[in-house]
Amino acid sequence: MFLDTRVLRHLTAEDWRVLTAVEMGSKNHELVPTPLIERIARLKGGASGVHKSIATLAKSGLIGRMKEAKYDGYRLTYGGLDYLALHTHSSKDVVYSVGSRVGVGKESDIMIVADKTGKQKILKIHRLGRISFRTVKSNRDYLRNRQGGSWMYLSRLAAMKEYAFMQALQEEGFPVPEPISQSRHTIVMSLVESLPLRQVSSVPDPASLYAELIDLILRLAKHGLIHGDFNEFNILIKEERTTKYTIEDGEEKETETVTLVPVIIDFPQMVSMDHVNAEMYFDRDVECIKRFFKKRFHFVPTQPGPFFKDAKKTVGKDGAKRLDATVEASGFTKKMLKELEKAIQEQQAKIDAGEAVEEEELDEDEDEDEEDDSGSDTDDEEDEEDQQEEEEHAVFEIPANVGRP
Ligand code: ADP
Ligand code: MG
Repeated sequence: MFLDTRVLRHLTAEDWRVLTAVEMGSKNHELVPTPLIERIARLKGGASGVHKSIATLAKSGLIGRMKEAKYDGYRLTYGGLDYLALHTHSSKDVVYSVGSRVGVGKESDIMIVADKTGKQKILKIHRLGRISFRTVKSNRDYLRNRQGGSWMYLSRLAAMKEYAFMQALQEEGFPVPEPISQSRHTIVMSLVESLPLRQVSSVPDPASLYAELIDLILRLAKHGLIHGDFNEFNILIKEERTTKYTIEDGEEKETETVTLVPVIIDFPQMVSMDHVNAEMYFDRDVECIKRFFKKRFHFVPTQPGPFFKDAKKTVGKDGAKRLDATVEASGFTKKMLKELEKAIQEQQAKIDAGEAVEEEELDEDEDEDEEDDSGSDTDDEEDEEDQQEEEEHAVFEIPANVGRP
C-alpha cells in the first residue's frame, strides 16, 4: 500500500461527503450497501451526484467493491482512509503537502510532509493488518471476525495509543518527537533531524551512549512503562553542536563539541510495568541494547543488569508520575490494549514465520466470502444523525478524547 496523493486535490466537496459516508457506514458494515451510502451522503448535504462521486472514488481506489458480494456496496480502502486522515490534517493546517516516503516499517508508512510555511514534519500511517495471511485462512477470519475489528479499527487503535504515549512522555520531559496531530490511523509529529542508531557506524564514547540508553529504560520503568521494542531502529541519534569560547594566551579560542542525543520513537507496543510479561519485555529491551553495542561498537558493560526486580521497586518513586495509568485514564480500556497487543504479536509471529504477504496482493475483489455482519439499517439511520456533528472522527466507538490534544 502506498500513499498516492495525486487525486487528493481533485476531489469535490461532494466526493468528500460520499467518502465520509462510506467511512461512517463502515462502523456497522464491512461492505456498506450503496443505498446506505446515498442516504448518509444526502443527510449531510446535496441530493445529487452521489453516484458520480461513488464512481470517481472507486476509480481512484479510495473505495472498493467486492466481487461476488451478496449485495451492492462498497468498502473503504486503506487509500480512502489515508485521504480522510490527510483531509483532516490539512483542514487543521497541520499538513499542506506530502513528500517522499522515508521509511516502511513492519506496520507503518513514514512520510515527510510539510505545512504551508514549508516546515517539514513526519506523518506516520499505521498499517496493522497490512500484512495479510493468504496462506492461513483462519487468520483472515480472525482479523475479520474480531469484535468491532478490522485493520481499520486496529490501525486506529495503534495510532491513538502511540499519540497518547508520545504526549505523556513529552510532558514528562522524555526525548521523543513532538506530537502534533492525530487522525484515524495516522499521526503527525515533528521531524527529528537524525539517523537511526542502526545507521551509526561509530561513536566517540560508546560507554556514555550506552549508559544514557539504559538510563532511559530505567526512567521509563520509574514511570511505569516498558518500551517493548527498544532497538536500534527505534532510537534516533541527533547531533547537538555547541560552541564554547575560551581565552587562551590572550586569544579567543573556539571549540565545538558534538553531543549525541538519543530520541526514542515507536510506541504502539509499550506495556505497563504491571503487565504479566513485564519482566520478559524489560529484559528483552535491555538485551537488545547490549547485543547491539557489542556487535556494532564492541562495547561490553562491566556491570550486569539492570534487573527487572530492581526497576520494579522504583515505579512511582520520587513522585514519578505513572504514565501507564495516565494513558489508561485517557480512555484506553484494558480490552483495547489487549486487542492491540494481540494483533501486534500475531502480525509479528507471521512475519517471523515468513508467512505474511502484502495486503496489496490481496486487495480489492479478492475477499470472495465477505459477510454482512451488520444489524438492521434502522439503527444506522439513528446513528447517522448523531454522527453528523462529529463528522471527521465518528467511525468507531472509541472515546472521543483519546489521543487528541
Ligand atoms: P514502525 O512502527 O513501522 O517501526 P517507526 O515509528 O519506528 O515505525 O518509524 C520507522 C522509521 O522512520 C524510523 O526507524 C526512522 O528512521 C523514521 N522515523 C520515524 N519517526 C521519525 C521522526 N519523528 N523523525 C525522523 N525520522 C523518523
Ligand atoms: Mg520502528
